[in-house]
Amino acid sequence: MTTTTSAIAAARPGGPLAPTTVERRDLRPDDVLIDIAYAGICHSDLHQVHQDWGTAIFPMVPGHEIAGVVAAVGSAVTKYQVGDRVGVGCMVDSCGECEYCQAGTEQFCRKGNVQTYNGVGYDGENTYGGYSQQIVVKDAFVCRIPEGIDLDVAAPLLCAGITTYSPLRRWGAGPGKKVAVVGLGGLGHMAVKLAVAMGAEVTVLSQSLKKQEDGLRLGAKDYYATSDESTFQTLAGRFDIILNTVSAKLPVDAYLSLLRVGGAMVNVGAPGEPLEYNVFSLLGGNRALAGSMIGGIAETQEMLDFCAEHGVGAEIETINADQVNDAYARVEGSDVRYRFVIDVSTIGA
Ligand code: NAP
Ligand code: ZN
Repeated sequence: MTTTTSAIAAARPGGPLAPTTVERRDLRPDDVLIDIAYAGICHSDLHQVHQDWGTAIFPMVPGHEIAGVVAAVGSAVTKYQVGDRVGVGCMVDSCGECEYCQAGTEQFCRKGNVQTYNGVGYDGENTYGGYSQQIVVKDAFVCRIPEGIDLDVAAPLLCAGITTYSPLRRWGAGPGKKVAVVGLGGLGHMAVKLAVAMGAEVTVLSQSLKKQEDGLRLGAKDYYATSDESTFQTLAGRFDIILNTVSAKLPVDAYLSLLRVGGAMVNVGAPGEPLEYNVFSLLGGNRALAGSMIGGIAETQEMLDFCAEHGVGAEIETINADQVNDAYARVEGSDVRYRFVIDVSTIGA
């Protein structure tokens, strides 16, 4: 027995997305049934619908920025009760036993974590994500959304929030550190807010000055256009950390030249094409070029609690289910301020 829930899916690679239904499993002892309220649109959803990262599973119900309310719990669940405000991010299962799971970095599970959508569960069933009215998730992969953050502005924290929080913490963003955020989109605007809340001095590096007012309002001290050649001369050797959130290929050497000695450029943007760089850009200055993938479940909870404490939420544009394809086109065109969030009650309405 399963439960049928309304959803939005891409039937084939490239889309478009259209209304459909998916089945959700009956609750196992450690499962939580969530009535989804809001689902964020991450650029990763577009990459996967477009198969930028390789062959994907269709039909695909994207969505790994999920916020909602617990509707039922399995017999062994003690952590959550009906009515609790909860979120689900990019993973819904992992082995729980390997060194990486034990260390709280389930995203690197040796058996392979189960992605929230475009994945296959350990039971062999395909996974379907948050563009749907209900989801069933193992309790260990559910996070609590603290009081004080509304569900709509909380949804994007489950991917954009943790993906930027984790590397900022790891690379030491804080007082006395100069952080550049490249790309002011969904991840980028969260990176600005989080790095500012951590006490760092933040500069936005965007393609143009179109969003300058917003960047400064979000707490950035400086804002530069990367289309302006002089930006790279002005900012040479300035930053301790550069967080690259761009969904497309960038001239990496030009960005590395903006790092101080010992600085790090950390990539979270995930374009399908390889990035290229000259190793001398690293040698000259003991610089690091790094990457970071989402964050573990415990760190995701830490991030949510940090956001509640510091009054941080996403800047969102809420849309109805029938606007999803238009929203995808706008994300593709860097025309998002700064995260689209689907009001899930409009799915199947
Ligand atoms: P987004 O909202 O579309 O933001 C990306 C931003 O990059 C755009 O707003 C734009 O900012 C800039 N940009 C886009 N195309 C560009 C180009 N051709 N040249 C220079 N800048 C460009 O996307 P997102 O949801 O933040 O996701 C960003 C990337 O992170 C995606 O590749 C996504 O798959 C990846 N991601 C990775 C992880 C991870 O675990 N590592 C997790 C989630 C997402 P400006 O207009 O300000 O220049
Ligand atoms: Zn994402």
